[in-house]
Amino acid sequence: MKNLKNGIVFVNPYNPDPPPNYFGPPYGISLIAACMISAGIKIPITAYDFDLQERDFMLHSVERILRKEEPVYLAIVTQSCTRGGVYELIDLARRIKPDVTIILGGPFATCEYDFLLKNFKVDYVVVGDGEETMVELMNNLIEGLEPLGVNGVAFMRKGKVHFSGERKKLLNLDSLPYPAFHLFKGFEKRINSGRSVNLMSNFILGRRCTTLKNALLMLSSRGCIYSCNFCPMSKIDKHKVRFHSPKYFVDMVAYFYHRYGIRDFAFGDNFFTLSKRRVMEICKLILKKRLRIKWSCMTRSDSVDKEMLKTMSRAGCFEVSYGVESGSEQVQNRIGKKLDLLRTREAFKQTREAGIRSILMLMVGNTGESESTIRQTFCYVKGLNPDSVLVKRVKVYPGTLIHDLYEKKGLLKKNYYKESEFTPPSFTCEHSEEELDRLSSMLGERRIFIQVNNTCNNNCYPCRLTRNVYNKQIEAIKESIVLASSRCEDIILYGGEVFLRKDIFKILEFAERIQVHHLSIYGNGRIFSYSGFTDRIKKYQCLEAFIIPFFGLAQMHDDEVRVRGAFDQTMQGIKNLTTASRSFKVKAVIYITALNCAMLGELVKRLVDSRIKSFHFVFLRDSMGLISIPINRLPLISDAAAVLKRMAKYLQGEGCEFSFEGFTPCLLRGHVQHMSEFHFPFNERITYSKGLEVCEDVRLKNKIKAEGCRNCKENSICEGIWKSYLNKYGKSEFVLIE
Ligand code: SF4
Ligand code: SF4
Repeated sequence: MKNLKNGIVFVNPYNPDPPPNYFGPPYGISLIAACMISAGIKIPITAYDFDLQERDFMLHSVERILRKEEPVYLAIVTQSCTRGGVYELIDLARRIKPDVTIILGGPFATCEYDFLLKNFKVDYVVVGDGEETMVELMNNLIEGLEPLGVNGVAFMRKGKVHFSGERKKLLNLDSLPYPAFHLFKGFEKRINSGRSVNLMSNFILGRRCTTLKNALLMLSSRGCIYSCNFCPMSKIDKHKVRFHSPKYFVDMVAYFYHRYGIRDFAFGDNFFTLSKRRVMEICKLILKKRLRIKWSCMTRSDSVDKEMLKTMSRAGCFEVSYGVESGSEQVQNRIGKKLDLLRTREAFKQTREAGIRSILMLMVGNTGESESTIRQTFCYVKGLNPDSVLVKRVKVYPGTLIHDLYEKKGLLKKNYYKESEFTPPSFTCEHSEEELDRLSSMLGERRIFIQVNNTCNNNCYPCRLTRNVYNKQIEAIKESIVLASSRCEDIILYGGEVFLRKDIFKILEFAERIQVHHLSIYGNGRIFSYSGFTDRIKKYQCLEAFIIPFFGLAQMHDDEVRVRGAFDQTMQGIKNLTTASRSFKVKAVIYITALNCAMLGELVKRLVDSRIKSFHFVFLRDSMGLISIPINRLPLISDAAAVLKRMAKYLQGEGCEFSFEGFTPCLLRGHVQHMSEFHFPFNERITYSKGLEVCEDVRLKNKIKAEGCRNCKENSICEGIWKSYLNKYGKSEFVLIE
């Protein structure tokens, strides 16, 4: 028998791409550890979660643990995104304590046990659910027995992989103890701290899948009855769902509520509302037990109804994530999701009416995806009005149906899983990586423009700033930032020159403190010509980019902004911003006028030479509604479009990104993919005088369709023509697309 004084150490390795939320210690390990304790396995158990830590910290800590605790067993959770850390831990353990028994488990280990055993010095891999398997395996190992008869375990024998056979699924989930989260020291403090992660760089990288920063993950069921081809659920649990009874589940929530003071929960079931009866019962019990909790869940949008959502809301549900993936029936069928898109529309409305936030999750690059299906999705999502939006590129995860396809087509690189690359490959069975980039750029996530100032040190003639002395109170600005950051990851502050606000640094500090992810500032950039000013902003990590308007080159720009030397000062500001010790991205917004149209090439070249890699060209009026070129100072829209088409070629050659606003597809044939109105259906603005408005609605008030547009192929997606332009110049330039 092995030395029982020394026990087992469970490790969840660092995640190179962690979400910026903390959902508590790993559920799986905590449950397995609880099962070992309740089965009476009397060995010391310690557990460490490095999910939100850095690689070096993890390696140093585990080295110390191996030396100090001298464990007999080291059990490591293995996911495809954390496999790099797992490989390093195996090497480390073999160096520091060669005789330690290494056991792997988790989703990646389940799918790739053969590969792991053949390539790494691992003793055992637990395949599938680990609760019963681990208890049996440990009982055998402690007794010094070969675990030959333990189902669900794979290991090497005589140079070959031995898999003892699949374990029958545990059907009675209520027979399980509650997860032993307490093995992770201080977990309740972290959950209740209100902070998300400790690494700024992590949260800048990460994507929020719920607005809850810290919440304890709880599962009321396992599996899903559908078989979406990108989802590991479809293969792992083979359409079977196993449930906890509502009583067991709510008792478990109540236990953590009372014992550890936890108030925020993330119900992490793949399909939480699969059974209405069950959801209603869970809610009833939460209310009966008077648990004052806030919870979020994920589910299919065609499985909820008004009554259910209202009850969920009363029981503390504040947010539901709906994986809609695509607005195209064809894609829905091809991926096996088969979502009822009509009911989905209704679900978003009912969720809002029930007072619950909705998160719309979309994917680009699914099987059957094309430019046309992206457009269908674009048209479909308009009007859903979700509170947050996530658009992700389809990735190939082990254990999915698309993984099989990807492998069969010979696209999975040999030794791919030996590399520690943490992002799974894109699904390139139907489109190249470049084509997927193009398709992805057609469906952007939400951006929110917040007006924070009403004055400027330029005096641009087309500017619509009211320039009154009234400056919005900082508290109101903060409220807008909080609202915006709950709805999107990308916030743009605008309103003349925002740095003229005396309290702008307090605003930036606030944005930093509440962990705004991506912050940009729209302004003329002149202030950054003063050396040292960039030093004042470089500490704000959320501040990433500056958006700077141009009306012409040199003297022409000065004339239009009515400040002598403004162009040179702005260019000096850009130089300082792009060459500072911490540099910022700069995007140029060029407003097209009759004067500058002919010399746009010269202006753009000058800006490219000044390291600007991102351009936005506006005809007549921008999405914020701040700048609107008077109709008598515009060129013909067809002339402007012709210039831009030539410009596109140059910018592509220079590797710049660019977009056009205010045009119509019939004028920009061949370049429609660069029209910003077609890529950002969710953008919103908060002006001084109004609350949240959808940018598209604001634009549409000033646009109209010409007679004949109804027969155009692009009619469903086109916003139409500026009313004032059509009134003055007529419709002759707009030739419908057949
Ligand atoms: S994506 Fe959702 S509906 Fe589809 S198989 Fe996975 S869990 Fe089920
Ligand atoms: S709908 Fe009208 S404005 Fe739009 S692309 Fe077609 S013809 Fe042009």
